Amino acid sequence: MLCIIANHFLPLKTALGLNRKSRFLENIVDLENKPFASGSCLCGAVRYTITSQPVRMGQCHCDDCRKSTGTGHSSNAFFNRDDVKIEGEVSSFESTTDTGSKITRYFCPSCGSRLFGTSNVVVDAISVSAGTLDDSSWFKPNAIVYNKRKPKWDFMDKSVPAFEEMPPPQK
Ligand SMILES: [Zn+2]
Ligand SMILES: [Zn+2]
Repeated sequence: MLCIIANHFLPLKTALGLNRKSRFLENIVDLENKPFASGSCLCGAVRYTITSQPVRMGQCHCDDCRKSTGTGHSSNAFFNRDDVKIEGEVSSFESTTDTGSKITRYFCPSCGSRLFGTSNVVVDAISVSAGTLDDSSWFKPNAIVYNKRKPKWDFMDKSVPAFEEMPPPQK
């Protein structure tokens, strides 16, 4: 069960309140003239800033996400790659998804925090691990994927659409 979350763009129109919230966040960015968000690894050797709002957000229970995070699911916000500025050295690990594409996960070589993910299919996108954000209060997942791999002890927001594997491709 390998994660292919980074290969899919979820229909933004169906995002719960995302459009309204996004405009609100844009206004905040304009008014204060600062990055949309920032974050770091646990030790602070890797820091990043994000200059735009997320394209989509999701949580994944697949085996690879559980292993790489050490928890019941990963929580990822996806951005255009050019909008995430990374400072500091990262290590990486590549794995193969169910569809045969490659996902590369990036982590801090000192403290091990899992920070980013990229795909060799959607090359202009990058995922950011929501737990590494300095302020993640805006994070609101559009979908929960690989729900069939959810551990019984991991409790999720029932108002978020959950899919046994990946959602159907966007029409
Ligand atoms: Zn996954
Ligand atoms: Zn670190």
